[in-house]
Amino acid sequence: MLSFPGRLMHPRSPHRPVPAPRAPVSSRRRLAGAAALAVTALGLAAACHDNVGPGACFDSGAQAYSFYLNGDTSLTFHWPSSYMPVRVYAEPTGELPADVLNAMTLWTGAFRCGELSLAVASDSIHADIIVRNPSFLPVARAAVRAVHSDSIGACTGVTQFALDSAGTALVGPMRAYVSPYAGFDSASVAACYRIATAHELGHALGLLAHSADTADLMYPVPRHATLSSADRYTIQLLYHTPATIGPPPRR
Ligand SMILES: [Zn+2]
Repeated sequence: MLSFPGRLMHPRSPHRPVPAPRAPVSSRRRLAGAAALAVTALGLAAACHDNVGPGACFDSGAQAYSFYLNGDTSLTFHWPSSYMPVRVYAEPTGELPADVLNAMTLWTGAFRCGELSLAVASDSIHADIIVRNPSFLPVARAAVRAVHSDSIGACTGVTQFALDSAGTALVGPMRAYVSPYAGFDSASVAACYRIATAHELGHALGLLAHSADTADLMYPVPRHATLSSADRYTIQLLYHTPATIGPPPRR
């Protein structure tokens, strides 16, 4: 588990432009067939335009926590605007697809200016984010970064990704996993999965650190499958912060 600095204050941060993507966008032909279940009003999605006024895309009066990988302020990732909607595949196991859809709705709902849109991908081959539900969490290879969650005791989760040799771009999809712990009843595991899935999707969207506040979904051991004001504000800030880590090439 990673440790993280305290909260960062960003009172009414001004608008900052979303950076251009580092990797070229390949064919979007799969999107049409990808059961593109938009979970936000995609057609209404708009970047934060100048005529909206500074701060219009940010909640006021909220605090943010760190979203930097390993606490390094030079390591920031979020999906670029050219990748919207980001394609999310959920392994068809138990309630996982429903939990993933819930998590997608949760995170896209955090935005005031439509910066993030997500779509359900019908296959994992062309997904940007893959969520699976194995019996045990996979062991990460040496080159794979992992951001852990212990959730609430009945299950566990992890999000893994690999960077290129320069450390400036992902080389494959974000992979999130939730797995059960032994000795818990199915209702406890199901409740845990819902929280852990939402937490891991937060990592996969670019929140590569944890909050120190137990009220936040991105607390290392989250307790609620809802977003706090800090969760909302932090991901709003993230998607208006230039990313130093680029997205993986699309297949
Ligand atoms: Zn985590």
